[in-house]
Amino acid sequence: MILAIDYGGSNFRFQLDRHPIVALETQSVDLMLFLEEMIAQYPIESIAISFAGQVRNGVILSAPNIALHNLPIQKIIEERYATPLVIDNDLKCAALYEASFDPHANTLAVLYIGTGFGGALVHQGKIIGGANNFAGEIGHTPFRATPFVCGCGRNDCLELSLSGKALELWSEHYGLELEEFRLEDIKSKPKGDTIHRNFLDALEHSFLTLLSLFDPDRFIYGGSVMQNNPHLIGFLKECYEQSPFRRVRKAPKIELSISKEGCLEGAKLLLKQEKK
Ligand SMILES: [Zn+2]
Repeated sequence: MILAIDYGGSNFRFQLDRHPIVALETQSVDLMLFLEEMIAQYPIESIAISFAGQVRNGVILSAPNIALHNLPIQKIIEERYATPLVIDNDLKCAALYEASFDPHANTLAVLYIGTGFGGALVHQGKIIGGANNFAGEIGHTPFRATPFVCGCGRNDCLELSLSGKALELWSEHYGLELEEFRLEDIKSKPKGDTIHRNFLDALEHSFLTLLSLFDPDRFIYGGSVMQNNPHLIGFLKECYEQSPFRRVRKAPKIELSISKEGCLEGAKLLLKQEKK
């Protein structure tokens, strides 16, 4: 039996083989205790984890929204239970999954705007990890100062302008009622246009930054905020048309993700890679 986990900042979701996915609140979960209980209860042969934070060589380094630091989870579980465990950053898992549908893409950028904002890149079927498995972590690069403090400690991260959490914080700041992350609704409210403009500026900034740094031939956008605002794909295509890059390169494909379970499914692909 395979235990796959999507360990997010708000939700901790898991699945045993192809059984229905079970969702828990992240705050209510102690990872070690959870894994020990699952191993005791089910015949688990391997564990695959997609984690919303920094991971390197089986070690959870840190996460802006989860209270775990320097936990060598792979070593602990493999030594204690002889159960193979693979783990990587959630966006890297999602990117691996998205890339599996398009083996001919040269360089693929996958960006998710959900509770937070993150990205990962795949080049010729392989995740671009960089020196520290940190490549693509664009959500915590400085953009504009805000009245808020990010989970990483700064007040100017892109994520504070471009994420579901940002839309919540800004709406609260201006006293707006926010039911869903629909930008057209937000735009029509007093001060909503400021939030909307700031969001679009951050979206354009991150898109053009990645375009210039990695020259992807394909961009895939996912996450709940993108799914609720599919018109943003048109906005990004327009950004490209207005950019100086259009004279020197072919237009990249820019698409909405069609997979809802990219992180979870991508984590399972890590297991297959491990076996190779
Ligand atoms: Zn940050």
